[in-house]
Amino acid sequence: MKAVLFEQFGQPPRVQNVPDPTPAPDGVVIKVEATGLCRSDWHGWMGHDPDVVLPHVPGHELAGTVLAAGSRVTRWKKGDRVTVPFVGGCGHCHECNSGNHQVCEQQFQPGFTAWGSFAEYVAVNYADTNLVALPEELDFATAASLGCRFVTSFRAIVDQGRVKPGEWVAVHGCGGVGLSAIMIASAMGANVIAIDLTEEKLAFAREMGAVATVNARDARDVIGAVKEITSGGAHVSMDALGSPVTCFNSIANLRRRGRHVQVGLMVGDHARATVPMAQVIAHELEIYGSHGMQAFRYQDMMAMILTGKLAPQKLVGKHLSLDEAPAALMAMDRFEGLGINVVTSF
Ligand SMILES: [Zn+2]
Ligand SMILES: [Zn+2]
Repeated sequence: MKAVLFEQFGQPPRVQNVPDPTPAPDGVVIKVEATGLCRSDWHGWMGHDPDVVLPHVPGHELAGTVLAAGSRVTRWKKGDRVTVPFVGGCGHCHECNSGNHQVCEQQFQPGFTAWGSFAEYVAVNYADTNLVALPEELDFATAASLGCRFVTSFRAIVDQGRVKPGEWVAVHGCGGVGLSAIMIASAMGANVIAIDLTEEKLAFAREMGAVATVNARDARDVIGAVKEITSGGAHVSMDALGSPVTCFNSIANLRRRGRHVQVGLMVGDHARATVPMAQVIAHELEIYGSHGMQAFRYQDMMAMILTGKLAPQKLVGKHLSLDEAPAALMAMDRFEGLGINVVTSF
């Protein structure tokens, strides 16, 4: 099969012919119909993720059809239209037994712990626990855009942030994660403030439902601007970018007893960011991480998509070919373009 492969961290990946995958006994092989490009792929390519072993095929936001199923798989068969969350739980560790597959102790992540979906086919383990059937109404490109940023934002806003109607939600960073969070929080009835450095992204954020915006390039004081708009601070705030500045601002712009959710990755030099801990104590702030979403939680999200309350198709940006994927992957740290770019021809 054709796959995007890199043999050294930071060296240009190339489209190459590699052996076709075979399913594990509890896994499937999926014919990839669409796969999203994400900054996590860029981190993996740069060597920031200890799970990645060379040579490697990236890609973790995928949708497609089951091509073959392992001997122990009972729920899936050839031809089924499916997607997966980017973290697949093993289904039998303590965390999976408690319903928290997103932090499984033996998690399977295509494109990180195994070869991923920048390829014609991808093998996915723990299939019975993690595959999600795609409704006919949902096209493959939109389905692929859900697997990482959209589901992580859904969990961050709904399950971790516990956003309620009428609350103020600040979203720092308007890439794929941030725009997803803005759409989801707005659908939940919250008032969303979008924060970014470019007017183009802030204008798109307003289209996704933001009722106020702060341009962090113009505003000398982002924290003060959010507190002024919200008359005292956001109830819930998310760092959707992942940087020491946005992380700090997202915590510091909360009102008393507010909830911060960290979704943007903090790796390398950023792994130990400064937290205003005195404010966390004095104001009883809550700080959460959000890391993917369990396959069984897709049901509520799919219902909101099928009824039109959520429209993830609006976040799909450019359609690319597999041959265009290496250059697009290497450019992921430049934050260019709007929404989520998806490879749809292989
Ligand atoms: Zn991703
Ligand atoms: Zn597990």
